[in-house]
Amino acid sequence: MPNCTNCGTWNPDDKQVCWRCQTELPKPPVKKKRETRRFAGLPLYLWIALVFFFIMLFSSRCFVTELSRWAG
Ligand SMILES: [Zn+2]
Repeated sequence: MPNCTNCGTWNPDDKQVCWRCQTELPKPPVKKKRETRRFAGLPLYLWIALVFFFIMLFSSRCFVTELSRWAG
């Protein structure tokens, strides 16, 4: 919500000039699009999730083989 720099009146976001004193309003800062970091076409968090998943899979397999070895 940009306030008029001249009279301090609140103006709607889409207004370019103050509705009260016709002073040109400062443009609101344009929000930058949050870009997801990508690696080989996949977002980075997906890679992390995948790696984590495989680590879990691998470690659980090791755990199971370890258990069966103990069991005989
Ligand atoms: Zn004004």
